[in-house]
Amino acid sequence: MGVMHIPGHEHQAPREVTLEEIRAVLGDCRLCELAQTRTNIVFGVGNPHARVMFVGEAPGRNEDLQGEPFVGRAGENLNGILSLAGLRREDIYIANVLKCRPPGNRDPKADEVLACSPFLREQIRSIWPDVIVTLGNPATHFVLKTEIGITRLRGRFHQMGHFVVMPTFHPAAALRNPAWQELLEADFKMLGEWLERHPAQPVPVPSAAASGADGAADHLPQVGE
Ligand code: SF4
Repeated sequence: MGVMHIPGHEHQAPREVTLEEIRAVLGDCRLCELAQTRTNIVFGVGNPHARVMFVGEAPGRNEDLQGEPFVGRAGENLNGILSLAGLRREDIYIANVLKCRPPGNRDPKADEVLACSPFLREQIRSIWPDVIVTLGNPATHFVLKTEIGITRLRGRFHQMGHFVVMPTFHPAAALRNPAWQELLEADFKMLGEWLERHPAQPVPVPSAAASGADGAADHLPQVGE
C-alpha cells in the first residue's frame, strides 16, 4: 500500500487534494488503539499553502483537550521564535505524525505510526511545502528515515526529494533545557536566512506539478516502511 486513496482523485498530484478532503477520509478514525483514549483527533492547523510545514510527534494533553496542535507552553514557545525565521503563525502549517494522544504522552508504538502516518503523508502532499521542519527525534526519524539523534542532525538542511528538511529540537523539550533553546533559536534564524535566499516560486497547477514532481512525494516514508 502506498498512496492513500482519496475519493474523486486518480493520481493525487501535489496540491490536488484539499486538506478538507483528507480530514473527511480521516473521519472518526479508529484504526489504532489510541481512538479509545483520545478526547479529540488533532488533525493539523494553519495555512494550506504554507511554504514551511512543522511536524511534531503526537498531541499532548492540551492539544488532546483542544483539538489543535501546539497549544500550551510548547505552542507559546513556537509562536515566540517564529519571528526569528521571519514567519507568523498564520504563515505555517503544523501537524503531528500521530493524530491522537498516546496516554500519558508515552512514545508512539510502531503499529500506531504505521496506521496514522498515511494521513500526514497526504497532508504534506496537499500542502507541498518547500521546507519541512521536524520537531524532535520521533518526527525527524519518521521523515528522514534515520535513527540518528537530533543533536547530530540539527543545524543543517537535508534534501528529501522535493523537500528541504530542517530537523530541530521540540519546543517543549527546549523549554526544559536552555542550551537546546539557544540551538532551537539558532536553527530558526538559519531557516529565515534560507527563506530569504530562496524566494517563493509561483505555485504550479496540480496537473503540471504531477508531471514534474509527483515522484518526489515518494521520498516521504511509505506505509509499511
Ligand atoms: S492515532 Fe491516527 S490511526 Fe490511530 S486512531 Fe488516531 S487518527 Fe486513527
